[in-house]
Amino acid sequence: MKKIAVFCGSSIGFKEVYKNDAIKLGNHFIANNIGLVYGGGKIGMMGILADTILKKNGEVIGVIPGLLRHEEVAHTEITKMIVTKTMSKRKVKISSMVDGYIALPGGFGTLDEIFEALTLGQLGIEKKPVGILNTNGFFDHLIKQLEVMVTEGYLKQSNKEMLIVSDSIENLISQMFNYKAPVMTKIINKIVR
Ligand code: AMP
Repeated sequence: MKKIAVFCGSSIGFKEVYKNDAIKLGNHFIANNIGLVYGGGKIGMMGILADTILKKNGEVIGVIPGLLRHEEVAHTEITKMIVTKTMSKRKVKISSMVDGYIALPGGFGTLDEIFEALTLGQLGIEKKPVGILNTNGFFDHLIKQLEVMVTEGYLKQSNKEMLIVSDSIENLISQMFNYKAPVMTKIINKIVR
């Protein structure tokens, strides 16, 4: 994997452990020559991750919608900033550039982005690995909710298994490297994003 999209909080969270894992992930990208594609912010978990990689001269590509760029939040020192017209065009642009997706702890924005990536996988539009770094059990309740969706008949077990979960960065990325997308029972090759 040459480039990975990381979705993560525009806030930093209350515990040091989240920030520490953002730094560790940045260092892992440097050590393995993986480029970061992300939301282009300088704040919160986004800023910590981007700055960690930039400090060691790694590649950081931000993709930001014009409306966010003018606020005090856009990073000005990254390798490249791509400005899109809308939030939805930003997602399409990010997906065209990356080999996989990772979510770190975050809020609505992070969940929106990672679930869009999972939905693309579920429909067979993409076959890229989607992982969450479960720092401090942050996503435990979300994973429980996915189990409820399976038992209540709203999510196929095989689709739930597309989501790779680990609290270890090395383990997460190694599972992503070895990921094989499930074979689709329905061929949805007419869907155009
Ligand atoms: P949240 O998890 O709600 O803090 O939102 C973070 C995610 O949404 C990031 O992965 C970004 O792609 C996007 N996002 C939210 N706020 C901003 C912002 N101010 N600047 C850039 N991207 C943002």
